[in-house]
Amino acid sequence: MQKFNRVVLKLSGEALAGELGYGIDPTVIQSVAKQVKEIIELDVEVAVVVGGGNIWRGMAGSAKGMDRATADYMGMLATVMNSLALQDSLEDIGVESRVQTSIEMRQVAEPYIRRKAIRHLEKKRVVIFAAGTGNPYFSTDTTAALRAAEIEAEVILMAKNKVDGVYSADPSVDENAKKYSSISYMDVLKEGLAVMDTTASSLCMDNNIPLVVFSIMEEGNIKKAVLGEKIGTIVRGNS
Ligand code: UDP
Repeated sequence: MQKFNRVVLKLSGEALAGELGYGIDPTVIQSVAKQVKEIIELDVEVAVVVGGGNIWRGMAGSAKGMDRATADYMGMLATVMNSLALQDSLEDIGVESRVQTSIEMRQVAEPYIRRKAIRHLEKKRVVIFAAGTGNPYFSTDTTAALRAAEIEAEVILMAKNKVDGVYSADPSVDENAKKYSSISYMDVLKEGLAVMDTTASSLCMDNNIPLVVFSIMEEGNIKKAVLGEKIGTIVRGNS
């Protein structure tokens, strides 16, 4: 039985870099597109928020002495590049999509218009939200939370490339790290777990938007997450 009808898929920039660690790995982006097609074929409405960390991260730029807001705007532009790459891969396999940007760039994509985005979703077009929230000092995780609330998505599917869920500590460093099957936003915040930044977590908590954290590296996982199969970790308002 299908569990979710309208979802926001959050893809980190890092996930798109795959083994390369930088830029866009064509095999990863093609695999993501294929997995998105699978859920579109289940009649699920899919909005995607793409990160930019594989190209540029504002914090890293500002750490090197750059003005933080300028560095963040560069990060937002990086998300546009990733979004266009994803759109290209989707259209290549016959999936209709639209990119909407929070910073206007009309020659490249539509501007973000909430009601138009919803209309696209109803027509089963994938809507890719690019350029984050359009504001510096925010993240694409916060963008996913904000857009999910706006379009009334039932869940955020957070696809990760290095972990397959939420752990009590970084599993690549601490071998005793324990994976949670379910946890509350409050506990994520209290324990300082690096699921998403605190702004994004509180927005999800306040608006009661559940989050499924899972690995993108295993094909078919997006479909499993949409069907409500037990994969990764589910983060809820109250676990
Ligand atoms: N960014 C921003 N405002 C937003 C979203 C993103 O300023 O609303 C910038 C910020 O500099 C961030 C970069 O864009 O570091 C890339 O986004 P993010 O780090 O969230 O990407 P991810 O970690 O998902 O790859």
